[in-house]
Amino acid sequence: MLGVTKLLCETTETKKGVTSCVASPRLLQFSQDKRPVVVWNITKRCNLHCLHCYADSKNQDYKHELSTQEAISVIDDLASFSVPVIIFSGGDPILRKDIFELARYAKGKGIRCALSSNGTLIDKDIAKKIKDADFAYVGVSIDGIGEINDRFRGMHGAYNLAIAGLRYCKELGIRTGIRLTLNRRTINQLPAIFDLSERENIPRIYISHLVYAGRGRRIKNDDLNHYETRMTVDYIFERALDFYRKGIEKDILTGNNDADGVYLFLKMLKVDPVKAEEIYRLLLKRGGNSSGVAIGCIDNLGFVHADQFWMHYSFGNVRERRFSDIWLDLTDPVMRELKDRKGILKGRCAECSYLDICGGNYRVRAEVEYNDIWASDPSCYLTDEEIGISKQIPQPPFNSPLSKWGDRGVKGKIGGFEKENYAVKVA
Ligand code: SF4
Repeated sequence: MLGVTKLLCETTETKKGVTSCVASPRLLQFSQDKRPVVVWNITKRCNLHCLHCYADSKNQDYKHELSTQEAISVIDDLASFSVPVIIFSGGDPILRKDIFELARYAKGKGIRCALSSNGTLIDKDIAKKIKDADFAYVGVSIDGIGEINDRFRGMHGAYNLAIAGLRYCKELGIRTGIRLTLNRRTINQLPAIFDLSERENIPRIYISHLVYAGRGRRIKNDDLNHYETRMTVDYIFERALDFYRKGIEKDILTGNNDADGVYLFLKMLKVDPVKAEEIYRLLLKRGGNSSGVAIGCIDNLGFVHADQFWMHYSFGNVRERRFSDIWLDLTDPVMRELKDRKGILKGRCAECSYLDICGGNYRVRAEVEYNDIWASDPSCYLTDEEIGISKQIPQPPFNSPLSKWGDRGVKGKIGGFEKENYAVKVA
């Protein structure tokens, strides 16, 4: 996740014109240590059927999801492991009856909790429960205005319900944000989404690039091309600056394409090299893509993944081992390599001058495109010149020991056995 407003607008000028970040406490996210933020897909069930859903959620019961008691034990472990944040996601986490009990318990253990929802189930009563559970933030996905959102999210009336949900939260003083996933079907809605956030006084906008996971893989061909992505990111930067100039407090973030950080740095370099240097320093602290390092995922059945888009490969299950043990276990080759990926990445990423601040971007997209998790991310929209490559880099397939990844992952197996059968295995 790239804090565009933080990087672009909140580095402050000293008298001598030297930039500094000390005046903005929100910039502290860049100096946090690397205990992972955990995205917890606490249920797979969802009342909507969004075209891009990375979890491939449906409106059905999923057997053998973690019980309340199992979830409480996981929270105990996450707390003793100093996990700073849990993002409860799904499916829609509100469909889980014990969601507020779990969030309250986690908060009591010192973990900040955020709720990632489609917003349609948030009425007055649910908003009160969100408030009482002390969620720090509620993010609601809206992929367009009215019908356009409804078509994308698979339910007539979803837009109006989501807006109502946001308003109920806002009335109670809960911090809210809206999220849009970029693709050909939603791109022309971007200006309207920024306008919506201004009209409704929603403080945070999160623009996500498409990751080819779950149903998102089926709409891979709807992903923006590199030119479109650049134009879109330019637009996002411009709107962030515009809000800032007008004195409107708005936190604009992009997600799931770490080339955005490099792009922002390169743009700033042309107009303000001193500020660019400060941005570089902050990006370096962040370290770019942090799947398996500063972000992790637990799914509804207790499987641990490198991030929420990588559900087809698991490092283990919290029913068998503690999350903290799984996370630190470097005998898993993927976990080991993610934590020290620099010499393993291939292609353009291996040669890139900005690998230290990008981290090689998303391995899942490389896997889908090239069947090799260490190949370049195909969504990197920077030119060879921009990233300091002059020679032609050969593209995969490479002769990687993991080039058979698809056999282990995409066909639905994790950790050597079929995921669907796991519940039977532990029963
Ligand atoms: S080439 Fe790879 S490491 Fe460099 S900016 Fe692009 S995605 Fe990031």
